[in-house]
Amino acid sequence: MTINALYRKFLEELKAIYPSGESAKITQMVFESLAGMSRSDVIKTPEKLISVEDSHRLTAALDMLLANMPVQYVIGETCFFNLTFKTTRDVLIPRPETEELIEEVIKYLQSNPQQKKILDIGTGSGCIPIAIQKNTVHHKMVSIDISEAAIQIATENALLHQTEISFMQIDFLHVEKRNTLDLYDVIVSNPPYIPGNEMPSIEKHVKHYEPLNALFVPEKQPLLFYEAILQFSVEHLATGGKIFMEIHEDFGQEVARIFKENKFEVDLKKDIFGKDRIAIASLYP
Ligand code: GLN
Repeated sequence: MTINALYRKFLEELKAIYPSGESAKITQMVFESLAGMSRSDVIKTPEKLISVEDSHRLTAALDMLLANMPVQYVIGETCFFNLTFKTTRDVLIPRPETEELIEEVIKYLQSNPQQKKILDIGTGSGCIPIAIQKNTVHHKMVSIDISEAAIQIATENALLHQTEISFMQIDFLHVEKRNTLDLYDVIVSNPPYIPGNEMPSIEKHVKHYEPLNALFVPEKQPLLFYEAILQFSVEHLATGGKIFMEIHEDFGQEVARIFKENKFEVDLKKDIFGKDRIAIASLYP
């Protein structure tokens, strides 16, 4: 088969599940990553024959895409914060909202370089601590996750980017276990925050492929992780420290309320879509 024929086949078949702009983007990502063919290769040499191996690899990828697997799992990587992260089904695919969370942390660390010890809760692919460390001067970074498999991927990503992060497998909801952690100047987290009752409205490629325990919380406890972070912070956030959290768009006020009730000041920030997405809680002396 020629490059062009297979390229067209991708566009044609992906149309069934993706808008056309997205199909083109996904096709390009797959061709580039799995066969080393850029868009300009496709344009310049459309009649070139594809090798049997490339053709097998690309056709298998198309089948996975048509079964709604997100392209980041199909190709095994994601571009996030201008860095490439290995991405398997053991970890959540890093999302653009989280880039905004990281930007807030970086801005803060740049103007407060004395804040040295950082804890990241629920690290997944490791995208948060790695992006922070790549963009700030030396800090001591500790990242935890409940999943051993996620810690493995995060460790590989940290190595890939030559960063130094201590990863630990800890269930943050387990009070005694989390209390073995130290005192930190900065706590950052993108915890699970989608209430279970929203499951029906979540897209198939998310709910059928991404780790559900990284996304969902029980319907009746939408603030489960924020309450745990709050309790933990009362003992483990250094005076003058700050907590940076990604939040569900509907729970900004609620998250702010529980922190304010415990003498924190809270700043809510909106994402690019104008929705509450980040809560920054500060503990003043
Ligand atoms: N922002 C993610 C989504 O909408 C949710 C991430 C999370 O639960 N922390 O899919």
